[in-house]
Amino acid sequence: MKKINFFDLKKEILKKIKKNGGFVNAHCHLDRAFTLFKNNFKYTEMTLQEKWSLVDEIKRNSTVSQIYDRMAFAVEKMISQEVQAIGTFIDIDDVIKDKAIKASEKIKQKYGKIIKIKFINQVLKGVIEKKAHYWFDYGSEFVDIIGGLPGKDKGKEEEHLEIILEKAKKLNKMVHVHVDQLNTNKEKETELLIRKTKEANMNGKAVAVHSISLAAHKKDYRKKIYNIAKEINLMFISCPTAWIDSRRTENLTVTHNSVTPVDEMIDYNLTVAIGTDNIADIYKPFTDGDMWTELRFLLEANHFYKLDKLIEIASINGLKVLGINL
Ligand SMILES: [Zn+2]
Repeated sequence: MKKINFFDLKKEILKKIKKNGGFVNAHCHLDRAFTLFKNNFKYTEMTLQEKWSLVDEIKRNSTVSQIYDRMAFAVEKMISQEVQAIGTFIDIDDVIKDKAIKASEKIKQKYGKIIKIKFINQVLKGVIEKKAHYWFDYGSEFVDIIGGLPGKDKGKEEEHLEIILEKAKKLNKMVHVHVDQLNTNKEKETELLIRKTKEANMNGKAVAVHSISLAAHKKDYRKKIYNIAKEINLMFISCPTAWIDSRRTENLTVTHNSVTPVDEMIDYNLTVAIGTDNIADIYKPFTDGDMWTELRFLLEANHFYKLDKLIEIASINGLKVLGINL
């Protein structure tokens, strides 16, 4: 076979990401990675909200060492791709209690010198109900970044955001908040996060994870959001394969792919990073944690070919959203 010369974009991009220290996986849930088994594969067809409860089974039955083993397996998968830093949510609630914290402590001891890992508390039970709030308080002390999921406190999203922002401010930590996940113009959670961040005076400390639904809104609305996001330095994390599978609906919106509108955000000088989100669990049974696959989906789904920006998204922007000094 004759060797041919062509512009090998993958090679080019990977080389430059390496020069920047390697990939950053800015959003994942390592404590639940590789929890897909033959007997829970049937849950993969359930809705997102149903899965929020279905994962209880595995959380209840897992020992600290099982959680540790899964996390270690996932961390090594990242190290094998020369990932330099990871931002991982871990469940801390009345089902799993402090088991993921204990596993994470061991992970830190074992891998802390090889790879930077920032832990973030997943509040799958919300933060308002009494028991949920107890575990939110408990977890907040351990983690590096305060996590949020306003969708879990449906109807009380404002209160949810007020609680996590106040906590983050008190502990001098950043917040990472799952918002606008459902790819519908009925959601306006990114806007709410911006308003609440501004009210809490937490400019530059908040990161929106996903913001998919933003892409379902009309251009004027999107522009407004980019402008106010810039004002408070809201940063974003896109997890392309996590939401590209958004279900078909009869709701008519602007034509778009179900992905964070990264191409537009970059035009507004907003910081966007990338993450794998769930890996091989009942949410994302086929996701294998491959960083190039995520970047490829991001660029294809947005028709986004600005190479320098793609390299930043995959590397240094991840350090920024994790609050790691460059
Ligand atoms: Zn997530």
